[in-house]
Amino acid sequence: MTMLQLSRISQPLRCLTTKWHHRGSLTCASSLHNKQQRRWFHNTQPHQKTKAVIFDMGGVLISKPFKVFEAFEKDNGLPNGLIRQVIVERGEDGSFARMERGELTTEEFGQIFSTECSEKLGKNVDMTEFLKVFERDVYALPEMLDAVRCIQAEGVSVALLTNNWKHESGRSLQPLDPSLFDVIVESCLVGMRKPDARIYQLCLEKLKVKPEESVFLDDIGRNVKAAKSLGIQTIKVDEPIDALTELQTLLNFPLNGFVPGTSSVRKGLEITKEPLIEYLDNLGIKSKDGNINIRQFKHGQSNPTYFVGYGGRDMVLRKKPPGKLLPSAHAVEREYRVMHAVGQAGVPVPNLIGLCEDSSIIGTPFYVMDYIEGRVFKDPSCPSLSPGERTQVYDAMCNVLSQIHSVDVTAAGLKDFGKFGNYIERQVKTWSKQYLASQTHEIEEMTRLMQWLPENTPTTDHTTVVHGDFRLDNLIFHPTKPEVLAVLDWELSTLGDPISDLAYSCLPYYLKPEFPLLKGFAGKDLSGSGIPASSDYIEQYCKARGIPHVQDMSVYMAFSFFRVAAILQGVYKRSMQGQASSDSAKSVGMLAEHMASIGWSFAEKGNKSTGTTGSPPKPLGASRSYSTFFQPRRSFSTHTESNPGILPVSIDGLPKNVQNLHKKVKEFIDLNILPIEQELIAHQMSDQRWTPHPLIEQLKDKAKNEDLWNLFLPIETDPNVEYGVGLTNVQYAFLCEQMGKSVFASEVFNCSAPDTGNMEVLVKYGTPEQKDKWLTPLLEGSIRSCFAMTEPKVASSDATNIEAEIKSDGSEYVLNGHKWWTSGAMDPRCKICIFMGKTDKSASKHQQQSMILVPMDTPGVQVVRPLTVFGFEDAPSGHGEVIFEDVRVPTENLLLGPGRGFEIAQGRLGPGRIHHCMRLIGSAERALALMVDRVHNRVAFGKPLATQGTIQADIAESRMEIEQARLLTLKAANMMDTVGNKAASAEIAMIKVIAPNMAQRVIDRAMQAFGAAGLSSDFPLAQLYTWARVLRLADGPDEVHRRAIAKIESMKHVDNR
Ligand SMILES: Cc1cc2nc3c(=O)[nH]c(=O)nc-3n(C[C@H](O)[C@H](O)[C@H](O)COP(=O)(O)OP(=O)(O)OC[C@H]3O[C@@H](n4cnc5c(N)ncnc54)[C@H](O)[C@@H]3O)c2cc1C
Repeated sequence: MTMLQLSRISQPLRCLTTKWHHRGSLTCASSLHNKQQRRWFHNTQPHQKTKAVIFDMGGVLISKPFKVFEAFEKDNGLPNGLIRQVIVERGEDGSFARMERGELTTEEFGQIFSTECSEKLGKNVDMTEFLKVFERDVYALPEMLDAVRCIQAEGVSVALLTNNWKHESGRSLQPLDPSLFDVIVESCLVGMRKPDARIYQLCLEKLKVKPEESVFLDDIGRNVKAAKSLGIQTIKVDEPIDALTELQTLLNFPLNGFVPGTSSVRKGLEITKEPLIEYLDNLGIKSKDGNINIRQFKHGQSNPTYFVGYGGRDMVLRKKPPGKLLPSAHAVEREYRVMHAVGQAGVPVPNLIGLCEDSSIIGTPFYVMDYIEGRVFKDPSCPSLSPGERTQVYDAMCNVLSQIHSVDVTAAGLKDFGKFGNYIERQVKTWSKQYLASQTHEIEEMTRLMQWLPENTPTTDHTTVVHGDFRLDNLIFHPTKPEVLAVLDWELSTLGDPISDLAYSCLPYYLKPEFPLLKGFAGKDLSGSGIPASSDYIEQYCKARGIPHVQDMSVYMAFSFFRVAAILQGVYKRSMQGQASSDSAKSVGMLAEHMASIGWSFAEKGNKSTGTTGSPPKPLGASRSYSTFFQPRRSFSTHTESNPGILPVSIDGLPKNVQNLHKKVKEFIDLNILPIEQELIAHQMSDQRWTPHPLIEQLKDKAKNEDLWNLFLPIETDPNVEYGVGLTNVQYAFLCEQMGKSVFASEVFNCSAPDTGNMEVLVKYGTPEQKDKWLTPLLEGSIRSCFAMTEPKVASSDATNIEAEIKSDGSEYVLNGHKWWTSGAMDPRCKICIFMGKTDKSASKHQQQSMILVPMDTPGVQVVRPLTVFGFEDAPSGHGEVIFEDVRVPTENLLLGPGRGFEIAQGRLGPGRIHHCMRLIGSAERALALMVDRVHNRVAFGKPLATQGTIQADIAESRMEIEQARLLTLKAANMMDTVGNKAASAEIAMIKVIAPNMAQRVIDRAMQAFGAAGLSSDFPLAQLYTWARVLRLADGPDEVHRRAIAKIESMKHVDNR
């Protein structure tokens, strides 16, 4: 057997998952399938230059539209070619082009196109059905989809660039599985169509490739021509098969025979086909045409594993890796023997075809078995399953483990497969030796474990077959039933103590979901998930085997982590010698230290000398994680003179409905916003940046449908819950923190500045007419707004300095002023501005100003330019410099009354005052999470960054600062809820200084830990940092808030004197 499959994250066989099926309702055309299928096979390496392949849809990936159109014409007694002719003749102004640009829905198109065709024919014809017929009859071309999968498997990006249409519902015709593509650009969603050069450029931008690094396939000549003129490599598709042959020559890797989890065979690991074919022929597996499909399962760091399709049979071949190997490693012969024996005893294993110990055939010994179709759950939390199904899956896993351990070793002929007794002791010796042989640097916890484990070997020792790598993703489940079809990866099996397998299968309870090697569910609340608690899982196993409760579990757990760490160290060493069979071996190997430290924590807990044996550390899912915040605990009261009422410090202290809302917001952001963040950032840098990204608009609809809309309006402003959802400031603070994770999130929930502040102003001070005209569309999200106070010529942190004028002239006011930093003014959706100016310069200092509503399309409003923040334009909202020159608006546009601008300014920044602070806590949390993740995965000077004291200090500092800032934010919010904004003014001012400064420091540390990448746009840190820095000014400069705090503090002392 070879090094633990775990050590490969490889899971070569895990990829024996469901065979890929073409999904959707399309009919597969198989006519092309066998035609030239085999002629493309090469075992060559990916073409280095081409980074992306861009496919048109109709006529390339799916059947040709015009063929269906012709059939429609025939069926409806129309002249052949009519549809095509009308489309071509009407050109860019015709209904077809307009539909493809998204200007018409298919329903609208049907009507207009009927008229166009009627005019052409000189008689009335009804064409409303022909697209429906097309959508019904279109089918995917399986060879093309196979090619797409093969391309993706080689790490080359795939895009769909299609002139497409959409229905009234907003749904477009996109019948293909979106996971086939890295980027999808549909003309009807972006408002332009091929051959418009901009649509190709958009696609390239999204792919992040240069024209010459991509290849474009289309069946329409002018589309191909346009791509070519941009420098894109092109293939004109007449016959898809021929196009694929051309593409394969260009890419230089095979484009058919895709098998999930595989890629073309890696360099240095090729198998010579002829001797293998001869071997298979001798086993009776024959092929008439002699064609063989060999692909390599990805990630294999241990025993290279191949898919072999030959003679109509799908098989898996496992062999030793080439080169000099560590002692006793990679013994595929043992693997074969134990699988054969336990298979005979009823344990589900793949059907074995043959073992070849003769190295002269393909260079090393190997064996062949049948390829099994089924489900493999790579993520132990099985997100795709219902809780009930998860319970069944874990039951099946537990039972199959008990089945393995119940095999009669003697009857199975495995008596000499390993030694009897002292298993842990022997294993510790073996793995210590392996570890020392591959040691590259000192791992303190490994040294301690090597000493501790032999002194604490378990009190019981029973011998059975042990699998050695028993975990959920080494099991193939039936495609639909909770039944294990095969246990894979017997590389580490031997005779030994079965509880070691049990302990090992419990690792996920102690590993976090984001752990790069073995995924776990530590930190997740398992209640209601259907996954048993670790104690229940262990109990069920004991019951199934009829054995008493397991003692010494800590020792078994410490041993499991120790062994994994030793294996990882071996992988690391081999990767340094360039011998491991996967590129990821290096990064995987570096995690040895992390595993050792978890192992040592079990040892500490289970230290016999302290009398705590048998009590492993609690699985994280059942207690708290490293965060001191998001874990269940009770709220506590912080009654003080200035802060009456209960302060909930975690979401658990809030009402159930708010907890649910929080969960929904969090999931929405995690599932819908974070995954598209990079695309949105790229859009902000593209020449389309001043147009809102269509995905944001789609997400807004989704959020609205899920009642995650206008969450910001506090109950005090909206007591009858007419406009918002009636949350208190504290309740909203928790939701807002989630929104702070991404700069794009708050807009999606219609909770972003400056709209929120402006809506509050209208709710509080707007007349019914003003509300009707401006508040309603703002609440609906159909328009956006801006707020113009700051002026370039005066120090605007002191609003009494404002110079803009609002002069009364009969039934109108005439406005003149020069504003800047008017956020949102650049946005094409921005329709209304709240303008601050002086109506009476002779009035007292705080009664000179007024605020007035100015529609952005009023003559005299001139947006001069977007300002930049550290070079960011913050498109599409932007921060505009705006000149108001003799702008006339009706007197009824004035808010509240002349001279009441200051009053509104105070009110505007009421609850909205601390939304930024709440979000900044979320930004800081995200930065810290990214940092922690990064430093565990990056190695400098021989060890993960996470082990460096300075990095640890930075992490700790950040955690402490976040917690402090959150508590103060919650306190301020709670005071606003309980004693009002005025009484809370000191806390509001304090948190306005504390939150952005804290976030800036935390994000700065994260950027530093990321190295140069932290400053790039590839990660959200630079954007989050910029925003934190901005808020030390945009929400009023720090100094102004400090001044207010000092004033209040001084007043207290004056009062006390
Ligand atoms: C990204 C961004 C978005 C913005 N969006 C908007 C918007 O939508 N609408 C809008 O009207 N404005 C907006 N602003 C402007 C923002 O509100 C002002 O920049 C801020 O109020 C400070 O005004 P100022 O720039 O004129 O600085 P100034 O008033 O000139 O102050 C300059 C500096 O003087 C110091 N200072 C000021 N007062 C004191 C004091 N009492 N004690 C000690 N030092 C002091 C501070 O260090 C301060 O930073 C935005 C700004 C940014 C950066």
